[in-house]
Amino acid sequence: MDAVRREGYEIMMRNAVILGSGCAGWTAALYLARANLKPLVLTGAQTGGLLTTTSIVENFPGFPQGVDGTALMSQMMEQAQKFGAEVEFGVTADEVILGRPAHKILSGKRTIETKTLIVATGAGHRHLDVPGEKELETKGVTYCATCDGALPMFRNQPLVVVGGGDSACEEATFLTRFASTVYLVHRRDQLRASKIMAERALGNPKIKPVWNSVVESVEGVSQGKVTGVKLKDTTTGKSSVLACAGVFVAIGHVPNTQIFQKKIKMDEAGYLQLGPGSRTNIEGVFGAGDCADKVYRQAITAAGMGCMAAIDAERYLAGGLS
Ligand code: NAP
Repeated sequence: MDAVRREGYEIMMRNAVILGSGCAGWTAALYLARANLKPLVLTGAQTGGLLTTTSIVENFPGFPQGVDGTALMSQMMEQAQKFGAEVEFGVTADEVILGRPAHKILSGKRTIETKTLIVATGAGHRHLDVPGEKELETKGVTYCATCDGALPMFRNQPLVVVGGGDSACEEATFLTRFASTVYLVHRRDQLRASKIMAERALGNPKIKPVWNSVVESVEGVSQGKVTGVKLKDTTTGKSSVLACAGVFVAIGHVPNTQIFQKKIKMDEAGYLQLGPGSRTNIEGVFGAGDCADKVYRQAITAAGMGCMAAIDAERYLAGGLS
């Protein structure tokens, strides 16, 4: 690292900075640390990323009994740190200025300069964007069953899970431990989830699917807590209120790429466009994981992409990647 002085700040020129601390970020950090490049990881607000909001991960190879999502992330972090990765917890990039001779990351009052940047910022929960959702967040509306499902306000109560993917099925199944009934509200009459997750959810006697239904509003704003959801049947057009104490929204994700808009090439949904390999359109900037993947979005694919980004960054630093 070369020390350079600019605008009154002591700025360390880094070889590699990684934004994000999910599977992609930690794997990139591990590879770069083992290449002796001393990467810096800015973990973002949620260290460990979305996997820390899941329960047991059953499809990460090497764990026949499954592995707790948070534990997996901690172990990946420990492994990267063991080889020299530096980690700044809870630190986010407010802005980036990309270009030669160094990419700049503005975070609070600091500017960090780096020769290579790996964007592994992941994705956040998609919102329903209906009346009552925002007002009742933390008052019964939530985006994470594992985080909030065991709260007293949900115990032995009817709960609603919105969505038809793996997340919705996983959340609904998890919530049967606490709820009296779990209504799985989906906008179509067929789940998108994988067969195993769908069968597990639909085979659970506590889970009642509500097909062809969209949420029009979350009820209970005047009471200061969720009392139900107003649903519209998409086949008949009729609206009705389903009473519940909690709404668990599991309708997918949006990539965390806002600060890169108009700076890195992305598609209309905000996913970074990569290629060849992990390269973005900006020299020395690489992408990995859910922020650049709207197709596979698995822990193992994110880890693989993190590995690719690290190898590409390493080759770029060695002058072998133009
Ligand atoms: P997803 O597969 O994109 O599913 C999102 C679901 O929400 C879909 O059923 C979609 O309906 C519905 N939806 C989207 N926007 C909506 C809206 N505005 N209103 C109502 N419904 C809406 O997302 P995911 O379930 O979070 O899964 C993301 C990825 O993570 C997937 O690749 C999945 O396999 C993976 N994952 C894996 C596991 C596991 O294996 N343990 C667990 C969780 C997630 P349509 O079906 O009509 O499009």
